[in-house]
Amino acid sequence: MAPAGLSIPLRAARHSGIREIAGLAAAIPEAIRLEVGQPDHRTPAHVVDAAKHALDEGWHGYTPTAGLPSLRERLAGKLRRVNGIDVAAEQVVCATGGAGAVSAAVVTLCNPGDEVLLPDPGWPNYRLLLAVAQATPVAYPCPAELGFLPDLDRLESLLGPRSRVLVVNSPNNPTGCVYPPDVLRRLGEIAERHGLWIVSDECYDQVTLDCTPVAPGLRHHADPDRVVSCFTFSKTYAMTGWRLGYAVAPPEVVDTMIKMIEGTTSCATTFSQKAGEAALDGPQDCVAAFVTAYRRRRDLVVDLLREAGLLLSVPAGAFYVLADVSPGGLPSDAFARRLLRDRGVAVAPGAAFGEVAGGAVRVSLASSDQDLREGVGRLCDLVAELR
Ligand code: PMP
Repeated sequence: MAPAGLSIPLRAARHSGIREIAGLAAAIPEAIRLEVGQPDHRTPAHVVDAAKHALDEGWHGYTPTAGLPSLRERLAGKLRRVNGIDVAAEQVVCATGGAGAVSAAVVTLCNPGDEVLLPDPGWPNYRLLLAVAQATPVAYPCPAELGFLPDLDRLESLLGPRSRVLVVNSPNNPTGCVYPPDVLRRLGEIAERHGLWIVSDECYDQVTLDCTPVAPGLRHHADPDRVVSCFTFSKTYAMTGWRLGYAVAPPEVVDTMIKMIEGTTSCATTFSQKAGEAALDGPQDCVAAFVTAYRRRRDLVVDLLREAGLLLSVPAGAFYVLADVSPGGLPSDAFARRLLRDRGVAVAPGAAFGEVAGGAVRVSLASSDQDLREGVGRLCDLVAELR
């Protein structure tokens, strides 16, 4: 007898539309790659050295499921120092990247068939995760007319008896929007009124392109007992491949989240955890240097797009800019394929992030100034040609 079919929700889910362009671009060696969502910087040398040292010292085994107690203590210190969050180390759970932290939170908080509110535009991986959790995505629009802030009335009108979790992502991928405290407070009030959990994806907390060194955190503006806040080393320290993230959760949630990690990955990679300790203990000027580079590139790309009349908003956080390609008349995925084929530039189609950004493409600032100048120049030329 043939084995039974595959998971229906997962089989039906689409791969991220960013991967499709990345796959095509990989076959073109001279392509300018502006679709990638990972820092072009190297992990700071003292962090790499700490991992090598950990391996030499014999850190080869599992750690406790929630992470090394010494790392959880340091994370509680970082959260206090940087984010103004005062929690015991026992409320901090280490995970395999920010993705692992968000997954553990969502799977812990919802049952199959529950509705999970996702930002549109939003990170495509949330939808895949909901297919794993067998939960139903409900998109809440964050339109360009509102500067990509959530349309709160619309959000509230989408809530019903199955609504269970509200996912908030600020600073936002792909819009770069950073939610101000009054919006976070209103999101908290909506969650309170409707009995929702909140998963606050703050993976870009320290990638702020305007003056504040850290984005406002949701826990300060909502009842912290209904919020799981997720963070990562990936963006702050250019450590995407190390797969180290963490979440802060209410005490009643922590133990169930740990079970999810126990049942999937056992623990975050041990030498990555030691490297994470070094990142937190060491000098922080690398973080400022990365952010300075993103800010400079943001200004460069914003100027080029503004001049061409294709700027949708000025991002205040994360490292992405949305370019309006609708004047060219092609949907974003067709535009992205055309830009790659005819001009050798890879960008992420806005349709990969939902409906709201369907007429836009995402340019990643995690690329060199030279590539950005050349790539965005070619993008503007193609729109002008198609007009
Ligand atoms: N959340 C958002 C919004 C992201 O853009 C990403 C990575 N692109 C993540 C979470 C996950 O980051 P990681 O797993 O690499 O830490």
